[in-house]
Amino acid sequence: SLSVEAYRRQHEIVVTGDDVPAPYTTFESAGFPSEILRAIHHVGFSVPTPIQAQSWPIALQSRDIVAIAKTGSGKTLGYLIPGFMHVKRLHNNSKMGPTVLVLAPTRELATQIQDEAVKFGRSSRISCMCLYGGAPKGPQLRDLDRGVDVVIATPGRLNDILEMRRVSLHQVSYLVLDEADRMLDMGFEPQIRKIVKEIPHCRQTLMFTATWPKEVRKIAADLLVHPVQVNIGSID
Ligand code: ADP
Ligand code: MG
Repeated sequence: SLSVEAYRRQHEIVVTGDDVPAPYTTFESAGFPSEILRAIHHVGFSVPTPIQAQSWPIALQSRDIVAIAKTGSGKTLGYLIPGFMHVKRLHNNSKMGPTVLVLAPTRELATQIQDEAVKFGRSSRISCMCLYGGAPKGPQLRDLDRGVDVVIATPGRLNDILEMRRVSLHQVSYLVLDEADRMLDMGFEPQIRKIVKEIPHCRQTLMFTATWPKEVRKIAADLLVHPVQVNIGSID
């Protein structure tokens, strides 16, 4: 419709894919559970950012997505909230392993995502944890053993723990590659591919990246199925 086109043009949203759903221009129109809306209200956000507005309806259709938007555009909630709804819908036994896996390049980014996940997921009783290097494995392994819905991990530490056979990814059905461009720049591609081999094919895969160079396009082509692509602003 005209208003969808106008909203996309105004916010420099370019979508590529079949039957891309209309953006959710307000939080209320997204159909989120009331506890999520309360958490959003509590932090005082007034409107979704463009990447959130356009990514949410696509992610909630269980489709793969490539989202290209610069740092600071609100990508984290773009994948976390649909991930929480995915966990609630499936209600898997968290003792059997996580349902949602988020890969991020650094300890700092992983802990920022974890903070956001706790802030917005706690009232939905979603359990989240973080795995990263440069810290002892013991507490991370104990958290895993307690059972968890959402794991946020750097590829190196997750691979170490996979090699120890202390976590199963067989229940993961929502995989997020956050800051995909940075993960590849940091040389994590082999670890990412090893991790993905442990995850069933029957999954939803979401890739978030600030840039769209050919290395990122290549791994997207390998790991995602008919993704909808969302660009915010100009692509470099
Ligand atoms: P990105 O991953 O794109 O770099 P983040 O997800 O880290 O961006 O979000 C950047 C900042 O914007 C965070 O502090 C986050 O809490 C905040 N934020 C997220 N969504 C909104 C929103 N709809 N309105 C206002 N601030 C938001
Ligand atoms: Mg981010």
